Amino acid sequence: MLARRLQGIPPTIFSEMSALAVRTGSVNLGQGFPDVDGPPTVITRAVEALGSGHNQYAPGIGVPALREAIARHQARHYRIDLDPDRQVCVTTGCTEGVAAALLGLVDEGDEVVVLEPYYDSYAAMIQVAGGVRRPVTLRSPDFRLDVDELRAAMGPRTRFILLNSPHNPTGTVLDRDELQTVADLAIEHNLVVITDEVYEHLVFDAHEHVPLATLPGMFERTLTLSSAGKSYSFTGWKVGWASGPAELVSAVLAAKQWLTFTSGAPLQPAIAHALDDEPDFPAELAADLQKRRDLLCSGLADVGLDVRVPEGTYFALADVSHLGWEDGLSFCLALPERAGVVAIPTQGFHDTDAGRHLVRWAFCKEASVIEDGLRRLGDARLRA
Ligand code: GLN
Repeated sequence: MLARRLQGIPPTIFSEMSALAVRTGSVNLGQGFPDVDGPPTVITRAVEALGSGHNQYAPGIGVPALREAIARHQARHYRIDLDPDRQVCVTTGCTEGVAAALLGLVDEGDEVVVLEPYYDSYAAMIQVAGGVRRPVTLRSPDFRLDVDELRAAMGPRTRFILLNSPHNPTGTVLDRDELQTVADLAIEHNLVVITDEVYEHLVFDAHEHVPLATLPGMFERTLTLSSAGKSYSFTGWKVGWASGPAELVSAVLAAKQWLTFTSGAPLQPAIAHALDDEPDFPAELAADLQKRRDLLCSGLADVGLDVRVPEGTYFALADVSHLGWEDGLSFCLALPERAGVVAIPTQGFHDTDAGRHLVRWAFCKEASVIEDGLRRLGDARLRA
């Protein structure tokens, strides 16, 4: 029993692989959640909110304190000027933001251009919304945006680009030239761009996250999505937000009111406190993650995996084709038994064959966990 709109969409690989990790007692380098929580003061604020009457419905658009803090965050980091009453909406994680944006904006048959590999919920919700996905592939080994391929994806029915940068799972951070191409095409074809920027603060080395909305002529056609989950290590709180022009934000709200109606009331003031009073946490997290990135990547290279060092996010992709595997899924299904480690095959995030042998490894885990995983991989037979 399943409605046609959900048919053909497999269960999310993240839940499947985390369940496999629990079942087999494996080190979970699959699903992206940190094993250390975010700032204790933020937790204290949530506990205080629970004890002081913040337990009934919040306004659907979000509590004023959080919307104001989100507006200040966008102004402080990117000089984006937002009216918190009309241009910001709180969502239940960015996943709801993506769902509400697509349900609120996409009409039957509208084409949505996405970067491939795409996050699984994009494909699911484009389909549920009645849209048609048009993938543009980020190809190994460097996973850059192919400008000609993006241009070629534009057709008479293209209405949206669903962008993600820093990009999960490749770790690519789109640079200014790539973003300018996206902007030029969006303006030329009169498109709306939905950008998922949940890894906005998790960038490494000299890479810089540039929100598409800051490019000339783009604010008015860009809906920006983000969340506190990744920036503040509270993935389970599911506090996200949409911001941009009032017409786009109200489309999100129009759909959101029938999905979750409102988001978790006691968590919202706590995240407002995080954004305002713990402003250095995300950059410190990124600096620390960079060390763990290097630990993971050099360790994967040592066990013979061909890994791409990511520019952002907390994931690294490795190609397992040279180990003789038919595809990344069979490698990942064999890995718990062979090594006691779980990783994520990314072939399901592609329409093309380009990701067939790619496997994603998360480094948002404590260094000791990464070391344990690497030790297990080193002791195992990884050839097919
Ligand atoms: N965003 C995280 C990841 O990519 C978790 C995803 C999920 O479980 N839906 O791993």
